[in-house]
Amino acid sequence: MILEEIKEWIATAQSITGFTGAGISTESGIPDFRSPSGVWAKNRTVYFQEFLQNTTDRIEYWRQKVEIWPSIRDAHPNLGHRAFVSLAKQEKLISLITQNIDGLHQRSGLDPKLVLELHGTTTEANCLSCSNKITMNEAVNRIRQGETEPKCYICQGLLKPSTISFGQSLSTEILEKARQAAQSCEIFLAVGSSLVVEPAASLPVLAKESGAKLVIINRTETPVDRFADSVIRGEITRILPQLISKKSSDWEKVYS
Ligand code: NAD
Repeated sequence: MILEEIKEWIATAQSITGFTGAGISTESGIPDFRSPSGVWAKNRTVYFQEFLQNTTDRIEYWRQKVEIWPSIRDAHPNLGHRAFVSLAKQEKLISLITQNIDGLHQRSGLDPKLVLELHGTTTEANCLSCSNKITMNEAVNRIRQGETEPKCYICQGLLKPSTISFGQSLSTEILEKARQAAQSCEIFLAVGSSLVVEPAASLPVLAKESGAKLVIINRTETPVDRFADSVIRGEITRILPQLISKKSSDWEKVYS
């Protein structure tokens, strides 16, 4: 019953902002942070200041990135990612704000102009001095060939994956665009996030305060659930495609 109601909201809405977290990519084989088998169960966090100041911390940071890179490089977008492509094709999706760093929304076929990567991307590394970029494939290959912490070939500055580390500031431009998208949609669809990382977690509340209907899809409870018009607990790839298709039988055709 409640699914049918949300489906109707989505069918009649003209402007939807999507918001995703690590949970949308677990079914593509990329672990999230806070589930029992998540990244934090295995790795220590290297803070941005530590990365800047200590060689051993940089080496540890790159070691973690090298370890996780194959699972991201080889992952395929799933039905959850493709559901947002479908919303874009229906010309309803005004923005897709993501905390994810895996690039799977773009690889699913979503127009990169619609994607706001709040926490950057791990598909590239950039020089902290001159901003020159290289692909993560190149960085990982250089480490595998013996460099412990790759340096910029142009200026010898520190190369770091283009993600936002703990203690590092978000891009004010991307955050501002995300706020605008939250404030100007009819429906804010928050999918696969524990909604505890700030400032990202305040965006669903901002959307709600600005008049949007807030729908949360997540396997476990979040602190923002109490603000939502609807909370759906369960697996994203099972729920999301059903919500966005016109007929319940449609989505199997669209996503096969
Ligand atoms: P999180 O790990 O804190 O929360 C993920 C949430 O998704 C959990 O509440 C979990 O219950 C839920 N979930 C997991 N799989 C699900 C599924 N199949 N269906 C429904 N729900 C599911 O992640 P977060 O909220 O995105 O925030 C943590 C940080 O994690 C972000 O900053 C992000 O950059 C980073 N991160 C990103 C990736 C990625 O890019 N894929 C992976 C790990 C961590």
